[in-house]
Amino acid sequence: MKLSFYGACQTVTGSNYLLETNKIKLLIDCGLFQGSKAIKAMNYNEFGYRPEEIDYLLLTHAHIDHSGRIPLLYKKGFTGSVLCTKATKGLCEIMLPDSAHIQESNAEYKNRKRKRAGEALLEPLYTMDDAVSCLNSFQGVQYNTVIELSDEIKVRYRDAGHILGSACIEVWVTENDKTTKIIFSGDLGKKNTPIIKDPFQFEETDFLIMESTYGNKFHEFHENSTEKMFYEIEQTLKNKGTVIIPSFAVGRTQEMIYAFNKIESIKEKWNAIKKVPVYVDSPLAISATEVFKQNMDSFDDEAKKYILEGDNPLEFDNLIYTRTTDESKEINFNDSSKIIISSSGMCDAGRIKHHLKHNLWKENNTVLFVGYQAEGTLGRLLVDGAKQVKIFGETIDVRAKIVMIDGFSGHGDRTDLDQFIESFKKKPEKIFLVHGEIDQINGFSQRIDEKFKIQTIIPELGQEFSIGSENQLNKVVGTEGKIRINHDARITLMNYASKLKDKMHDMSEIVSYDIINKLDDDSIKKIISQYKKIDNEVDDLVKILERTSNE
Ligand SMILES: [Zn+2]
Repeated sequence: MKLSFYGACQTVTGSNYLLETNKIKLLIDCGLFQGSKAIKAMNYNEFGYRPEEIDYLLLTHAHIDHSGRIPLLYKKGFTGSVLCTKATKGLCEIMLPDSAHIQESNAEYKNRKRKRAGEALLEPLYTMDDAVSCLNSFQGVQYNTVIELSDEIKVRYRDAGHILGSACIEVWVTENDKTTKIIFSGDLGKKNTPIIKDPFQFEETDFLIMESTYGNKFHEFHENSTEKMFYEIEQTLKNKGTVIIPSFAVGRTQEMIYAFNKIESIKEKWNAIKKVPVYVDSPLAISATEVFKQNMDSFDDEAKKYILEGDNPLEFDNLIYTRTTDESKEINFNDSSKIIISSSGMCDAGRIKHHLKHNLWKENNTVLFVGYQAEGTLGRLLVDGAKQVKIFGETIDVRAKIVMIDGFSGHGDRTDLDQFIESFKKKPEKIFLVHGEIDQINGFSQRIDEKFKIQTIIPELGQEFSIGSENQLNKVVGTEGKIRINHDARITLMNYASKLKDKMHDMSEIVSYDIINKLDDDSIKKIISQYKKIDNEVDDLVKILERTSNE
């Protein structure tokens, strides 16, 4: 059998792996590349295989970096079935059309410019039609049930504890009377994540393909995070302020609603919070909450206890869902204290931008971040302490208090990932480390080597491995070389861009009055001329990049 890696290699997005025998071809996940422009451009690359030849797509969970290229796969000729849990299917039914809408709007925006310039029009990556049609090929499967796909292949979905419906997938491949087991971890959550069940503890496998997002990092304890969050909210409300919580629509928002519901029954604390309205202002989050409500059977014991006691854990008295644009606008019509949970979680799109525009400039308000903020997003600027930001072309003073609460991650940290490996009684022969930035993967790889004495492999994009009858592993050289070079060059360019940014930053830190005073006039002139040279070269490069970006 062969195992190839077409995404989430030394990066966290674009998950896509191919497992094939002579008779059957399985894909595991087919996610969108997300992040910088260069990374996003990879979505337009050809797949590293023929979509029409794929028999099954095994989907670990609904997040777009795992599912977001399925409509494209379908558009390019895939006719097989997508197997995923019932909840993942439900979430994909709202998330893939939402993603298509974004693809269409992006193309439309660029085409407006292109039309004016008399240039050829762009096609969106995929359309709403593609997204809706591909959903017909989704089949819901049960957790913990072995499914026979052919006489060679069996699969089983187990809880991954990451988001509702998330799964680790066990695959058994039987070739020449020999069975090999491979586990694809998908994204792994941590124990005691609210609402959803803990990750399953596996006991044996031959190979493990494992995520490494926080392979080398510790999280803060969740209990501390929730306390801290409510403390900050309570203080703001006492000062008659409003609290804005930018939150990912799927998963984090429901976790927030669940936490607010939970404090209803605490008599002696958080009384200010219980008196104000809590708005959930995101159509996607509202639809996702509906999917949660339809899948209460996969909730954990604590959440089920609330349901048995007659308390819907995703509803409470002061909770208001606002779906229409008018309802959303009305939230900011009055100055009374409130809590607004809205998306996108990183503030780079969606209704959250309107709420920030209306509330950032007032000093008794608080913006509370409960999720990761990627570089280059409005959320990151605020977390990094920007004094002013631009929203819809308008300069807004940042006078509100900005608070970042760690510990709400949907991913396990290094302790959780270590425990996942520790639970195996028969340790995997080899672990492929995917879905992580290289510093996290390297640290994790080293620890696995020292602690568990298991060999790790850090696959590169487009790399292909053959697994022999004795489970020996061979790297297959070259057939996908073209794709690899293509991807490698893009990643190298991105690394250079970020390295250069760091160096420039360091340079500006070094140049202080202290140093300048020590230099004579001649040396200063020389340095200035070197600066000019760099400046010109950077200008040339920016021109090339801008020309491409405007295309
Ligand atoms: Zn995920």
